[in-house]
Amino acid sequence: EAPESRNFIHAFIEEDIGPGGQFEGMTVHTRFPPEPNGYLHIGHCKALTIDFGTAEKFGGLCNLRMDDTNPTKEDEEFVDAIQQDIHWLGFDWGDRFFYGSDYFDEDYRQAVGLIKKGLAYVCELTPEQFKEYRGDTTTPARSPWRDRPIEESLDLFERMKNGEFPEGKYTLRAKIDLASGNFNMRDPVLYRINYLPHHRQGNKWCIYPMYDFAHPIQDALEGITHSLCSLEFENHRPLYNWVVEHCDLPSHPRQIEFARLGIDHTVLSKRKLRKLVEEGRVSGWDDPRMPTLCGLRRRGYTPRSIRNFCERIGVAKSANVVEYGFLEHCLREDLNETAQRTMAVIRPIRLTITNYPEGKSETVTVENNPLDPAAGTREIAFSRNLWIESDDFLETPVPKYKRLYPNGPECRLKGAYLIRCTGCVKDENGSVTEVLAEYDPESRGGDPADGRKVRGATIHWVDAATAIDAEVRLYDNLFTDADPDAADKNFLECLNPNSLEVLTGCKVEPSLADAAAPASFQFMRLGYFCLDSKDSKPGHLVFNRSVSLKDSFKK
Ligand code: ATP
Ligand code: MG
Ligand code: MG
Repeated sequence: EAPESRNFIHAFIEEDIGPGGQFEGMTVHTRFPPEPNGYLHIGHCKALTIDFGTAEKFGGLCNLRMDDTNPTKEDEEFVDAIQQDIHWLGFDWGDRFFYGSDYFDEDYRQAVGLIKKGLAYVCELTPEQFKEYRGDTTTPARSPWRDRPIEESLDLFERMKNGEFPEGKYTLRAKIDLASGNFNMRDPVLYRINYLPHHRQGNKWCIYPMYDFAHPIQDALEGITHSLCSLEFENHRPLYNWVVEHCDLPSHPRQIEFARLGIDHTVLSKRKLRKLVEEGRVSGWDDPRMPTLCGLRRRGYTPRSIRNFCERIGVAKSANVVEYGFLEHCLREDLNETAQRTMAVIRPIRLTITNYPEGKSETVTVENNPLDPAAGTREIAFSRNLWIESDDFLETPVPKYKRLYPNGPECRLKGAYLIRCTGCVKDENGSVTEVLAEYDPESRGGDPADGRKVRGATIHWVDAATAIDAEVRLYDNLFTDADPDAADKNFLECLNPNSLEVLTGCKVEPSLADAAAPASFQFMRLGYFCLDSKDSKPGHLVFNRSVSLKDSFKK
């Protein structure tokens, strides 16, 4: 299916830049404004795909702007990570990288301008009083400071800036409409006092603009034509427009909202993701179970699979919760085309081919990718002693079991020979330690010389003498609950206690010895795997299962 090429945002923009439109003949200019207080997650990907993708579609520009006007949790560490993640996805902002905090002087100047026009006043209500005054009824009370003389507000605002007052003592509020049905228009706060040092401005400021005030100013100063944002800003749009209209700004950007992305079995909120990290529920922001970009990357997700996902979920105005299975589907689709095929045995048990001469070995030829003949073939060693998956043998078969059991059906060792199980060896506790089989020397390559039907399964294997050890990490949903993000749930109680399974002593083909992240492999019958970019070292290979082979996603 082709990625959706035109959505409702595109339709608005076409109108805006067309004849008689608000931006007739102008270059479309968007921006992506992440707050550097955490790592980007797949929800941000949706937003940035829309921001950068829309600009691309119209031959326009997209700025990257750090929305760092709140000093509380922001950090330079996140700024670098955000840039890396966006580049990794393949988007580029060129030289249009900005910080919201670079506009603090301008924000201040605009606020003074509003006070002078009688459109803002210094208020002394505490946050609690403010809530109460603003009310939840149709007739909110007036702040006793609403009609404070302009000169007095100007003086107090300057002294707020100079650090003469403690936090919470004063705020600057817009004078808009106390009777508005939209609470955001009931004299919203524009500035508050905060003495925390800012990650870039240090202690230069102790008053900070609110997002709803700073954001439209930033957009207008950067010449943004279309300010695309998620739906929770819809009822902030009247305030956005009020700020642009009443401040002294060079342009009037248009805000357009789209639905946030939700994915089942996970949470998409930096606050909650941070909590998982801080409480040690995961190994870090880049834990392969995290829906962060760095987590998905470490898990083995490719930029192409994520961009495909974002394009195919579409852009709609109504809330959309997408199945995690669809994200996996997009990855599987990509890796199926590109991943090198190989064999690995993750729960190994010995297989001895009793009629194969001791000390002898040979090589057999297998394809690297049946979907891509150009990927070629490789030679793998075969001998009397092999490793197979322990669940490919059962001493007593269950109904329909087509793999190895004593006197069971003939099975095919992938790319090598046909074998028939003859028995097994057990230890003193009765556990099977070795499977015994005989091979048909006339079936080299895997097909019988006389053309007889092979009734058993094709199983994967590795040669014991040449195999190398590896650690393999299998993942399941981080949350057992389908909707851990729901308002009435404690997401920490929804965690899946079995989301990580670590297997050691796994046996892989020796060709993997030199593999390095971010290479992806299909382990035959087991799924797609990648090397763990943090923990895998030569001599200690660690593989993450990116996604299993079986597609649970129903189209
Ligand atoms: P969080 O709640 O995770 O902190 P946020 O919206 O506060 O998210 P920002 O860094 O401000 O995080 O987000 C940057 C942009 O990404 C915003 O424009 C926001 O609308 C958008 N965004 C964030 N989460 C999602 C999501 N789940 N789906 C779509 N867009 C999102
Ligand atoms: Mg935000
Ligand atoms: Mg946030």
